Amino acid sequence: MLIPGFTGSPLDRADHLRQDAEALGRAMSDWRARLLRLDGIDPVLDDQGRLSWGSLAEAPEDAELLLLGLVDGRPHFAALDYAMPEAAARSMAIFRALDLLPPEEASTYAAARSLIDWHLRHRFCARCGSGDSAIHRAGWGRICKSCDTEHFPRVDPVVIMLAEHEGKVLIGRQPRYPKGRYSALAGFVEPGESVEEAVTRELWEEAGLRVRDVQYVTSQPWPFPSSLMMACVAQTDDPTLTIDTTELEDAFWIDRAGVEAAFNDDAAAAFLPPPPYAIAHTLFRWWLERR
Ligand SMILES: [Zn+2]
Repeated sequence: MLIPGFTGSPLDRADHLRQDAEALGRAMSDWRARLLRLDGIDPVLDDQGRLSWGSLAEAPEDAELLLLGLVDGRPHFAALDYAMPEAAARSMAIFRALDLLPPEEASTYAAARSLIDWHLRHRFCARCGSGDSAIHRAGWGRICKSCDTEHFPRVDPVVIMLAEHEGKVLIGRQPRYPKGRYSALAGFVEPGESVEEAVTRELWEEAGLRVRDVQYVTSQPWPFPSSLMMACVAQTDDPTLTIDTTELEDAFWIDRAGVEAAFNDDAAAAFLPPPPYAIAHTLFRWWLERR
């Protein structure tokens, strides 16, 4: 079975606690409550390469507690420290951590990271512009004290897809990728589009391909800052490429043996595959195993 990255968290998100002030107060004073240890917004790992947790007493002064959920009935929190620098840049440390974290641990971290990042960037009310807003629903929202509007953490849908033609798939690279790395093509879903329509549009815009029979494969969160990656495969009858060089540095068709070589770390492979925590990795593996 394929397990996409950033999935499988043991957290029970305990929605019923978010609106229940008394129950939330009990969770915050529960001696078994745990606080996610962070270095800035990056995770702190224990010596087993898993997330490290401390007591709520470790929260920075003036930090607010966000209820991530329950694990075996124990409340698990993350601290929202407004003094934290914004997480716009991804550090080297986060990618080193992701090489170590199992998917279910990365999943818990992703929820915390996306939520903290959202709060840091959404202190002003998008409706009235007031800067006087407060955390709400145990951290899963903000409420504007000026106009009473509730705001909820956003998730940005992204499609990522393999175009397929006669046993080959299309791979491409963006200029910012590490040397040799190729991946599946991807793009944000726009307002008013279905997943299938976004896949069709992106493959047309980026590669000049007309595709049919878009099939959904699987999904995973991607907490940079808060995407939901939806992996698909689509068929084309005409493999002629017209590459949009503002998006892609290169793209080419590769057969099964070529993808297998890349995933087997073959020195002669035509490309370096995406890392296991990226959904493109899962998508390629799904494609290899499907045959
Ligand atoms: Zn407002």
